[in-house]
Amino acid sequence: MILRNPGCENLLSGYLFPEVAKRRKEYQVAHPEAKIISLGIGNTTEPLPQHIAKAMSDYALALGTAEGYSGYGDEQGNSELRNRIAEVLYKGLVAGDEIFISDGAKCDIARIQTLFGRGTQIAVQDPAYPVYVDGSVIVGAAGPSRENAYEGVTYLPCTAENNFFPDLNNIKPNTLIYFCSPNNPTGVASTREQLQLLVDYANKNGCIIVYDSAYYAFIRNPAIPKTIFEIEGARKCAIEVNSFSKLAGFTGVRLGWSVVPSDLCFEDGSSVRKDWNRIMTTLFNGASNIAQCGGLAALDPQGIEETKRLVDYYLENAKLMQNALTGENFAKCNVKVFYTGDSPYLWVHFPNYKSWDIFDRILDECRIVTTPGSGFGKAGEGYLRFSAFGHRSDVEEACKRLSQFAL
Ligand SMILES: *Cc1c(COP(=O)(O)O)cnc(C)c1O
Repeated sequence: MILRNPGCENLLSGYLFPEVAKRRKEYQVAHPEAKIISLGIGNTTEPLPQHIAKAMSDYALALGTAEGYSGYGDEQGNSELRNRIAEVLYKGLVAGDEIFISDGAKCDIARIQTLFGRGTQIAVQDPAYPVYVDGSVIVGAAGPSRENAYEGVTYLPCTAENNFFPDLNNIKPNTLIYFCSPNNPTGVASTREQLQLLVDYANKNGCIIVYDSAYYAFIRNPAIPKTIFEIEGARKCAIEVNSFSKLAGFTGVRLGWSVVPSDLCFEDGSSVRKDWNRIMTTLFNGASNIAQCGGLAALDPQGIEETKRLVDYYLENAKLMQNALTGENFAKCNVKVFYTGDSPYLWVHFPNYKSWDIFDRILDECRIVTTPGSGFGKAGEGYLRFSAFGHRSDVEEACKRLSQFAL
C-alpha cells in the first residue's frame, strides 16, 4: 500500500468555519423562526458591475462563433491583461512579464509552496489566513520531521500591544515570511515605515516575503502603500499575490495574479521568476479566458469607477458597524474596536471573554454570526472578526440589534 502523505496526516483539523456553521445550525434548529444575520463571512455579496458582467457575457457568446473562439491561451495569462495590471495597478513598478495570471490568490499561495519545497522555515502573522501554514504543512515545507509538522513555523503575534505589527527579530534568517496587508482577520493595513522595516529585515537576513494584498482596493488612506513594490528594496525580496476577488466581486468568477520580480534570487543566485514560470506552465494551464476578459473590463476606466463604487459600498457597511460597536453599551464594558477604514473587517476585543464565549452570546442574543478571533491563531483569543460583506439592509438590521445588546 502507498504511505499517506505525512503532511496531510499531521495537519491539525480546520476547525473554525465548520464549527461556526455547526453552532449556527444548532441555534436555527432550536429557534426556527429566528432570522440569523451573518457578519461572519469573507465572501462578497453584491452583484458584479454591469459593464464587467456584460464584457464576460459577450465574450462567452462569441466563443460560440468561428471568429470569437479561442482555446488554450498562454499559461502565464493574456499579455494584454498582464500589461494592464502592470500599468494601472503597479504604475510601472513591475513589468507585465513579471505578472502571472491565475485562478486566484489562494491557489497561488498553495502553488508557491512548491517553489521552496520541503523543510523551508516559514513565519506568519498571528492571527493569519489559514492557508499560509496549512499549505506549507501539506507539502512538508514547514516541518522537516514527520513527528512535528509545525516545527518550522514561527508565529509572530500581532496584538493591540504592538499595534498589530510583529517583532521582526523573532524571524530566523532564510525564512519564507507570509505577510498580509490589509490583514485578514485584523483589518490592519501596515504603514510605509513598517513595510520598509519588513523589507530591510528580509534583505538583510536572506528571507523572502510572500505579500498578500488581496484587500489593497479597500485602502483609502493615501499614505498606506497598496503594493509591497512601493517599498525600496522589495524587488529583491518579495513576491506579491493578489486577486480580483475582493476588488471586483470575482470570488466565484476566479481570477488572481502573482508578481515575481526578475531581481528575486535563490541562495545560489538563480532566478525565482524562472522557476515560477516553469511551475506555472507545468502545473497550471492558464486562467479562464472569460474571467480574464472580465479582468480587462474591471481595469478599463469604466471598470475602475464601478469597482471603486462596489468597494465603497462595503466600506460604508463597515462604518455603520463601527458606529454600532462603539456605542455606549459596548464602550462601558471596555470593548475596543480596531478599525482604520482600510479594510472590510473590524477586529473587536472583548475583555474578560474567550472568543467562542462572546461568539455564542452574540449569536444567542442578537442572532448574528461573527467569526471567533481565536480560530485565526492564539493571538486572536478574546477577539471577534466582524465582516462588512453583506447587504445593506442586513447590516442595518444587525447594527440595530447590536445597539440594543446588553453586554
Ligand atoms: C479572500 C482572500 C484571498 C483571495 O483569494 P482568492 O483565491 O483570490 O479568491 C487571498 N488572501 C486573503 C487573506 C483573503 O482573505
